[in-house]
Amino acid sequence: MPGTCAPQAAFAAVPEAFDGLEGGHALDALLNWLGEAVCVTDGQYRYLAANAAMAAIYGLHDPAEMLGKTAFDLYPDFRQSVFFEACAAVVREQAPQSRIGYSGVARGWVTIRVAPLGRDRYALVVQRIAHRTDATITLQQHDRLTALPNRWRLEDDIGRQADPNAGGGVLTLLDVRRFRSLLHAFGAGEGDRALVEIAARIQNNLRLPQQAYRYGDDRFAIWAPDGQESLRASLACVRNALAAPFVLDGVPVHIQFCIGRACHEPTSTVHKTIIQAECALAAAKAGPQHDVEFHPGLAGPGLDPVLTTHLRAAIDDHRLDVHFQPIVDALDGRTVYAEALVRWNHSQHGLLLPGAFLPLAEDAGWMTAIDRFVLDRAVTFAAQAARGGTPFGVAVNLSADSVDDPGTVDAVHVVLRTRGLPPSRLLLEITESSMIRQPERSRDVVAALRGLGVSTAIDDFGSGQAGFTYVASYPSQVVKIDRSLVAPLPDSHTHRVMVNNIIRMVHGLGSLVVAEGVETPGQRNALQAMQCDMLQGWLVGKPMAPGAFMNWLRAHGGTGDIASPVR
Ligand code: C2E
Ligand code: MG
Ligand code: MG
Repeated sequence: MPGTCAPQAAFAAVPEAFDGLEGGHALDALLNWLGEAVCVTDGQYRYLAANAAMAAIYGLHDPAEMLGKTAFDLYPDFRQSVFFEACAAVVREQAPQSRIGYSGVARGWVTIRVAPLGRDRYALVVQRIAHRTDATITLQQHDRLTALPNRWRLEDDIGRQADPNAGGGVLTLLDVRRFRSLLHAFGAGEGDRALVEIAARIQNNLRLPQQAYRYGDDRFAIWAPDGQESLRASLACVRNALAAPFVLDGVPVHIQFCIGRACHEPTSTVHKTIIQAECALAAAKAGPQHDVEFHPGLAGPGLDPVLTTHLRAAIDDHRLDVHFQPIVDALDGRTVYAEALVRWNHSQHGLLLPGAFLPLAEDAGWMTAIDRFVLDRAVTFAAQAARGGTPFGVAVNLSADSVDDPGTVDAVHVVLRTRGLPPSRLLLEITESSMIRQPERSRDVVAALRGLGVSTAIDDFGSGQAGFTYVASYPSQVVKIDRSLVAPLPDSHTHRVMVNNIIRMVHGLGSLVVAEGVETPGQRNALQAMQCDMLQGWLVGKPMAPGAFMNWLRAHGGTGDIASPVR
């Protein structure tokens, strides 16, 4: 296993441990006593070693009768069996595999574990599951792909094993960062292979009684009933093992993880501990640290699991709202276009702004669904307004997930065609941070959208680390200067110099500039003097519900196309 800690002996014994026993008999006795069927085969499924329990599966009394024969010789239906499924997967993948299933030849439910030993040798261990009810429970409590126990089993184990003397145990959650990008790049088969390998690297670096679990799609859990101290050492080994590259489709890939941890207080409930570990994980995903331990300050309303359930229902039932904020010409104040901003009118909490629920959606992987919904609402609204004699251009935000999603450009094309809005009336905003995160992909999306005749904007420019080279390498029609640079105007000399230079640079590249978050006449005057093209902010108009926005538009003059593509 690449990247595991220093190799440990698989079996240790003092020289006199087997005194008086003939060579090999001690191992025989041990293997038979274990009760699990054990054998070694080659890649042709030929038996090279077996114990009595393995022979018993075939109805044989002497394992020697198996040697030299293949599984096909002993079991004509081998190809249709769960054994074959597990063995073939190991030969193909050259990585450990596990299967749970009903075996005809063993006449019962079995757990099969197979691992490559190297040089065309494979070890196979079969464990009978005694009762059908045990089998059902085992199936219900294990993940089929990795054979790790699943989340239901985790909940049981925490409840049963939490040891008050060891401080109650520690729950650790590990999340594979950007697993969906990996799936897009390598396909589902390689993605599954990666998950099996991750599972093995985690489990192989734990010490009893610690146990790994498949917690969700690309999430794993470690439950350490023996407390913080012993977990710390194991976690260092797990981290080490996971840092080694994973070979996917022949390519070495470094996979990153976020980790969240919570202590299970003896007086607490399992449910609460799980929520606390999830809070810590969410903080690890959102913040600069990739390993976060839960503390009470982390629990915010945004991580409320009830709110998450409501949000999914609101997305599914199309119960989110879209408000529109005008973006106006800096000199004459005429509306150039409007930005569509998602809102959620919650039955108990009232109107929620994106900051209260988008982090939840990001965490759950629902951003693409939200973006598509907003896109459809915004385009439909703009098309209706145009038919009613008040045309306006509309901007929609694309999340990093949407930029990543291979269906996004097609979705834009389809929505424009079906709703009847000319592409020149749509602008898509991609934040500076998602551009930095996936530069190549963003460039492709910007180019493809441009091919459709749709404009793009770099959103929140100046909020992160994106330098001028970024702007220069994205052929966007619009660059939006982040509110954090606009707020200190006009007093801050530094900010005047920065904003002025950004405007010069963007103009030099042939694009237009929007200043975000303009709240005061002083800011507007400074921006006008610097020849900023457009303004967005409360001074001009707050985001408005569609009806209020139409009234505003009629009073301030409608718009047509967004910005003529100059780059
Ligand atoms: P953004 O795209 O930069 O949108 C501008 C944000 O600035 C909006 O916040 C807007 O209400 C706020 N704003 C505008 N003028 C002013 C001002 O003068 N002062 C202040 N303090 N704020 C102002 P909002 O609606 O809360 O949205 C926050 C962010 O959430 C947006 O930032 C955008 O990144 C994201 N977002 C909103 N709707 C969507 C959506 O449909 N999809 C995606 N992917 N993201 C969205
Ligand atoms: Mg925006
Ligand atoms: Mg912005």
